[in-house]
Amino acid sequence: MEYKDKKYTYLGGLVHGISTLATGMKTSIKVYFRKKVTEQYPENRKELKMFDRFRGTLNMPHNENNEHRCVACGLCQMACPNDTIKVTGETIETEDGKKKKILAKYEYDLGSCIFCQLCVNACPHDAITFDQNFEHAVFDRTKLVLQLNRPGSKVIEKKTINFAEEENYTIYFFLKDGTDYNTVDTELRRGNNYTFSIDLSLDTNNDKEIDTNYPSKKPTSETITSIKEEPKIKMYIDSSTSNSITYKYIVVDYDNALVKEEDKYLIHYTVGEDSTEEYTTEISNTASMETFTLSNLTNETIYNIYYNKANMAEKYGKRSC
Ligand code: SF4
Ligand code: SF4
Repeated sequence: MEYKDKKYTYLGGLVHGISTLATGMKTSIKVYFRKKVTEQYPENRKELKMFDRFRGTLNMPHNENNEHRCVACGLCQMACPNDTIKVTGETIETEDGKKKKILAKYEYDLGSCIFCQLCVNACPHDAITFDQNFEHAVFDRTKLVLQLNRPGSKVIEKKTINFAEEENYTIYFFLKDGTDYNTVDTELRRGNNYTFSIDLSLDTNNDKEIDTNYPSKKPTSETITSIKEEPKIKMYIDSSTSNSITYKYIVVDYDNALVKEEDKYLIHYTVGEDSTEEYTTEISNTASMETFTLSNLTNETIYNIYYNKANMAEKYGKRSC
């Protein structure tokens, strides 16, 4: 018996056949006992929940006062690649005599929508959104042209909220990942994160009384995790003789890590490719140039210099002279 270039005896072929059958049956049995996902639509219409990202029909949310957020700017219409949206605005005169454009009609042709969501993304006022309604079938295509603004609806008016007369505001600086908002940080330094917070006392109904505070809850944080910068070390060759090289180094240590950290920063060097003898010099916090000298060098000696602190990686690799 021959199968895929393999030759089987009668018994070998039988065993192979049974094993491949068992492999297939394993999958069938696993799927048979798996939790069923078949949706009994339309019987389950009431409970059926589409996944969150599903885009059903474009709509314009209205609040309980029949107000929406659309200002008839037309950006969604311009963003639509299919001419699916038609925004019609009208100009009215406000109480203080100013001219203002308002939304008259917002038409959306569901039949030509490709659900790309460019319109929703283009809207600067979050005035439109997709719901999860997927039952779009109709007998007459004209029924797919929907008016999204409801009869008699209007745009939500911006409300002016005044500061209350007293205790207008309190300002706090606090460490974002550090301390409670009222803790004084005596070590203002690079690497710490600071957050600025302002508490506003507001008079929402213009009766000169404090009605609300913003924000209602002051931010606090629990642990001090200020981020420090490691000292930066620059190294130069200062001078050399026939058997030695003197290096100069300077440390830039903005956050005084060398002073405050318990870890020592060290320069290590070995001379000779297979050398097991390592020389170490401690890096000091200094604004002036420090030096160290590698001696007993011969022509083509391999030497290795690196600096580190505990758990820091090597910074310099092998060199040779
Ligand atoms: S989803 Fe795309 S095609 Fe549909 S109305 Fe918005 S921009 Fe146009
Ligand atoms: S829905 Fe948004 S983008 Fe479109 S007209 Fe209204 S405010 Fe402008």
